[in-house]
Amino acid sequence: MEQQLNQLKAEMLQKIEEATNLKALNEVRVAYLGKKGPITDLLKGMGKLSAEERPKMGALVNTVREQVTAELETKAAILEEQAIQAQLAQESIDVTLPGAAMKSGNRHPLTRVIEEIEDLFISMGYEIAEGPEVEKDYYNFEALNLPKDHPARDMQDTFYISEEILLRTQTSPVQARTMEEKQGAAVRIICPGKVFRRDSDDATHSHQFMQIEGLVVGENICMSDLKGTLDVLTKKMFGADREIRLRPSFFPFTEPSVEVDVSCFKCGGSGCNVCKQTGWIEILGSGMVHPNVLAMAGYDPKKVSGFAFGIGVERIAMLKYGVDDIRHFYTNDVRFLSQFERAEG
Ligand SMILES: [Zn+2]
Repeated sequence: MEQQLNQLKAEMLQKIEEATNLKALNEVRVAYLGKKGPITDLLKGMGKLSAEERPKMGALVNTVREQVTAELETKAAILEEQAIQAQLAQESIDVTLPGAAMKSGNRHPLTRVIEEIEDLFISMGYEIAEGPEVEKDYYNFEALNLPKDHPARDMQDTFYISEEILLRTQTSPVQARTMEEKQGAAVRIICPGKVFRRDSDDATHSHQFMQIEGLVVGENICMSDLKGTLDVLTKKMFGADREIRLRPSFFPFTEPSVEVDVSCFKCGGSGCNVCKQTGWIEILGSGMVHPNVLAMAGYDPKKVSGFAFGIGVERIAMLKYGVDDIRHFYTNDVRFLSQFERAEG
């Protein structure tokens, strides 16, 4: 019987040694130590032994059972550790792999121009004013000296929501609203924003575009203030060597009115395709605020005066970045937009 026990012990230890996973190990435990296993059978068979042999044999069986149980536990711990290591190896991340590149965007060229102009005017003490894009006829036209039958309205045909409500054709209504709010106090603002015209879209016209208008109202504001301000603006946008030239023009809301040209930044004035061989490039319209406009906003034209100017943001951006078609700004083509990353300052 002792020999049988030793043989059994050797067999069990070998099976434990051979088990490659916890499931197989548990099967060994059940097969040998379970209620129907050979150890139980041995213990049951002890009744046949003599009274002397019985305790000796009992102790021996228990020792073997303890040894095998200890061996099972050791092996189980090893297998558990192996299982954890295997899982970790499977789930590990190779930190040396190159990451997925995230493409970062950049500011739209029109936003870039607007921010540059805003920064300049804020540094000169201006405030930034905004107003509604869906505007009353009164603020868009009438308050700007463009009564209902004025022929100059034809140049600014727009989208009408109703007879009295329209999509603004210019940012000038913000000027009218600001003057009304200020109730006679001095004004120094720029108004950037979207404006709309019922123009057919082509390379230089879009039914929607951006404007920045400026307005200064106060005592003793004169034409030289306007010229000095625009000189600073053009030098900032196109370079310190640029000159400006004022030409007489007509706008209903300013008197006198001027078109402003900048000396060609490509040829320096000798003539090229950008300046159409003239040496000058038209960039904006401006003038001294019309007395009627001041009076309608509650100012006394005899006491205060002012100047206003309007800049087409697309026009500035086209000139500054050499863009030949205004529609590029609105078609969201990444190939176009990503070219301005290099200019990011
Ligand atoms: Zn030129």
